[in-house]
Amino acid sequence: MEKYWLTAVIILLLVIAFYAVSRKFRRANPWGKTPYERQEYFLSPAEKQFYDVLLELVGEEITICPKPSVREVLRVRDDVKRDRLKYFNWISQKHVDFVLCDRETMQILCAVELDDRTHERSDRRQRDAFLDKAFAKAGLPLFHIPCKQNYGAEELNPLYRFLCQDLLELSEEEEDAPRCPDCGVPMVVRTVSQGPRKGQQFYGCPNFPRCRRTRPLQ
Ligand SMILES: [Zn+2]
Repeated sequence: MEKYWLTAVIILLLVIAFYAVSRKFRRANPWGKTPYERQEYFLSPAEKQFYDVLLELVGEEITICPKPSVREVLRVRDDVKRDRLKYFNWISQKHVDFVLCDRETMQILCAVELDDRTHERSDRRQRDAFLDKAFAKAGLPLFHIPCKQNYGAEELNPLYRFLCQDLLELSEEEEDAPRCPDCGVPMVVRTVSQGPRKGQQFYGCPNFPRCRRTRPLQ
């Protein structure tokens, strides 16, 4: 009987020792395993197709950075003392599809999101609303472009006009256009196409139908 107990105690001690050693080893070498494989393509087919469209649109003076982390584009304001880490963590794991920069200075000009079906999911919608608000507050325009087979003037015009505002002859209304409070992008002049107010003009968010913000045109 005594022998049985002794064996049990020894086994128990061995188990504890093994556990302690393996734990110490794991701590000393936290990256012991590397279960990764390379991804073949950096962009999905839809992203690549849109990237080519963007390349044509932006010309030589602007460079396109695909999929940067939001933490490379926004930062927590210096005057925020409480919960800095929390606010940082909120953006550190997210990325945007494209960021456009001045090629010479790498100054950040705006961000572009390609909205595919996944953006209709409720978790994505929450993420989108958070990012829209964060970018708008930070004063960095965030354009949403619906994912399509072909991209025409309707989808690309607001972005094009924003990037080329110095080169284009903008009308007075376009120059005075307010920024959408939700997206931070300059609003565009639209015309009511039907109903009793048909023909009247107003400012609308270029991210319509995602964003339905409007402003009266004075
Ligand atoms: Zn908007």
